[in-house]
Amino acid sequence: MSQRQRMGQPMIILGEDSQRMKDRDAQSHNISAARAVAEAVRSTLGPKGMDKMLVSSMGDVTVTNDGVTILQEMDIDNPTAEMIVEVAETQEDEAGDGTTTAVAIAGELLKNAQDLLEQDIHPTAVIKGFHLASQRAREEVDDIAERVDTDDEELLRKVAETSMTGKGAELNKELLGQLIVDAVRQVTVEGPEGENVVDLDYVKIETQTGRAAGESELLQGAAIDKDPVHPDMPDTVEEARVMLINEPIEIEEADVDTQLSVDSPDQLQQFLDNEEAQLKEKVEQIEATGANVVFCQKGIDDLAQHYLAKKGILAVRRAKKSDIKFLKEVLGARIVSDLDSATEEDLGTGSVRRDDADELFYVEGGDSHGVTLLLRGSTDHVVDELERGITDALDVVAQTVSDGRVLAGGGAIEVELARRLRDYADSVEGREQLAVEAFADSLELVPRVLAENAGLDAIDTLVDLRAAHEDGQIRAGLNVFSGQVEDTFDAGVVEPAHAKEQALSSATEAANLVLKIDDIIAAGDLSTGGDDDEEMGGAPGGMGGMGGMGGMGGAM
Ligand code: ADP
Ligand code: MG
Repeated sequence: MSQRQRMGQPMIILGEDSQRMKDRDAQSHNISAARAVAEAVRSTLGPKGMDKMLVSSMGDVTVTNDGVTILQEMDIDNPTAEMIVEVAETQEDEAGDGTTTAVAIAGELLKNAQDLLEQDIHPTAVIKGFHLASQRAREEVDDIAERVDTDDEELLRKVAETSMTGKGAELNKELLGQLIVDAVRQVTVEGPEGENVVDLDYVKIETQTGRAAGESELLQGAAIDKDPVHPDMPDTVEEARVMLINEPIEIEEADVDTQLSVDSPDQLQQFLDNEEAQLKEKVEQIEATGANVVFCQKGIDDLAQHYLAKKGILAVRRAKKSDIKFLKEVLGARIVSDLDSATEEDLGTGSVRRDDADELFYVEGGDSHGVTLLLRGSTDHVVDELERGITDALDVVAQTVSDGRVLAGGGAIEVELARRLRDYADSVEGREQLAVEAFADSLELVPRVLAENAGLDAIDTLVDLRAAHEDGQIRAGLNVFSGQVEDTFDAGVVEPAHAKEQALSSATEAANLVLKIDDIIAAGDLSTGGDDDEEMGGAPGGMGGMGGMGGMGGAM
């Protein structure tokens, strides 16, 4: 196999199974692996990007267009490729959107870096040049970005729509965009210096299948997808005093192997009475706090259910941990973990209403401000993808509200940055200049791929875009819906500046991390895939073991 031939001489200091690659070999091995990852997600970029179907080893199917989701589900088993996956994860954590862009740029940076390395330019010069270019590009983003009024709902809706498109939200993007903007506005408060602070912890996304996405709605408070534990319980409590508890309302289990020996029927009866008394006491403790609703994260014993029902207390068991956490915010409650010390102080107040059609409880808080985005869709796959798109859009709208800087999308910002970086390159001394130029070229991947994915000619598009930018049209981008190069900002393709800055810095860091490596010492086979080698033969650089994705080798 070709990889073995590329290995250096066996080293005495290393174990028998170790492998070692140095210098150019190590670099090209790493670059190929990283590029393979970038190429895997490229075809999903933009509103016209295609989706991927990912099948886990358990047979679970995910259909998605979301960069970070694809990479996380792909079960990548190559150390370099994993570094690129981390780019996507950083981008997701820091910006919530732009993951495909960050990964695609990282891949393109490495591709162009490889050309430079082949011209005998030292990696440190490339790294330095990339670093300079990335820094400059971020300054330029700030210079190009438009400061907008964060109360401008129409603009915020455009930001939401730009982020959502391509993720199953097309048909209802106006409605969904509006719901997102409303949700963000409801959880925005004024910070100490008059700035907007958005706390997305107060926004929960709940999904329901069976109805059209167009029937999605924004609810005040929480929606809890649970039933009362007992049919005799009230299912609507207007003046609710709610206890959230994460301890089971059950008998404390004795050890598994404890044996109970009873000598007489009396003793057995006494034992059972004792259990009954324990449960009764727990229910009385709940009642003593004044609670009339209980959300329990654990189980509730049948007998306890009966006692609770008798006292007119509404109880729900096995509530999700995330629901309990959110209810805590919505109701202003404290989570009880020991009934013995529960008091009235722990309760939250609000109202609990039953929706029989949806089999949900709507829980509204007295004076706090949590909201729930109830997303609907026909099937699980549809709502799951919708949820991923909506989560991204929530993040970018929140960023826009707190940061106030936006950019024209559809490649407009990338082409403008490339143009400015080429000017800047002239002022950079030495070989680093070539790296700055390579960086500029790499950014133009974005409009190229947007065009490609929309079935347009990538070269023609880029030529038109460059001409427009030379002409001073800073906001000229490709609107894939009209197929035209136009002012994408006016066309409503608007992105937050912060996410773009983050994409630039995480892509550069990842590329530089890969370029810095000149020696790979592996305690074992470098292509960790082992038996999958045959299948993965088509992928460059031995992208070993991409688990369940093995069969897709050729598609990348
Ligand atoms: P990412 O994971 O990077 O967010 P997306 O698949 O969401 O990837 O695509 C984002 C890119 O799509 C951005 O560059 C954005 O400007 C672009 N885009 C969004 N809407 C349009 C549009 N109508 N025309 C052209 N490009 C668009
Ligand atoms: Mg996106």
